Amino acid sequence: MRIQHEKAQQSPQKRLQQMVDRLRESDCRITPQRYAVLRVLAESTDHPSAESMYANLIDQYPTMSLATVYKTIHLLKLRGEILELEFSDLGNRYDGKKPYPHPHVICTECGKIVDHEQLDLQAIINRMMAETGFKIVTNRLDFYGICPDCQETENNSE
Ligand SMILES: [Zn+2]
Ligand SMILES: [Zn+2]
Repeated sequence: MRIQHEKAQQSPQKRLQQMVDRLRESDCRITPQRYAVLRVLAESTDHPSAESMYANLIDQYPTMSLATVYKTIHLLKLRGEILELEFSDLGNRYDGKKPYPHPHVICTECGKIVDHEQLDLQAIINRMMAETGFKIVTNRLDFYGICPDCQETENNSE
C-alpha cells in the first residue's frame, strides 16, 4: 500500500527526517554516504540526476560511489519515497521532496525541471474518471518550454 503524503510544502529538514525514519522503519542502514544522498534529495528543487548528485557529493564524501547513489534511490523507490521521472534524452531525474505525481515544467535547452503547484489536477482527474469509467491511480504531466535563463541567453546572442 502506498503511504499518503501530505501535500503541504515541508521544510527540507522535516523531509530529510521523514526519509530517514521511513528507511529505518524497514531496517535500512543509514550510512553517512546514504544520509548525504537523502540530504541532497530533501534540499534539491531542481530534480537532480543520480550522476549530478554524485558529482555534488564526491568532494565532501571521497568514499561516495555512484553505486551508493543508485542504491539509495532504489531503497526510496521501493517505499514510494521518491518520484522518478524518466526521459529518453535527459535520463532519469528525481524528486525527493514530493514523491507523489505533480506537474513539471521542463526546459528543452538546458534540461532544468521545475514544479508547478497551482494546477488543480484533482478536478481534471475526477472528470476523467467520470467520463472514462477508469479508476485513475497515477499520472504524469510534463510541459516543455524555454526557461527564463535560456531565453535571456538567446536574446543576448542575437
Ligand atoms: Zn533552460
Ligand atoms: Zn517535482
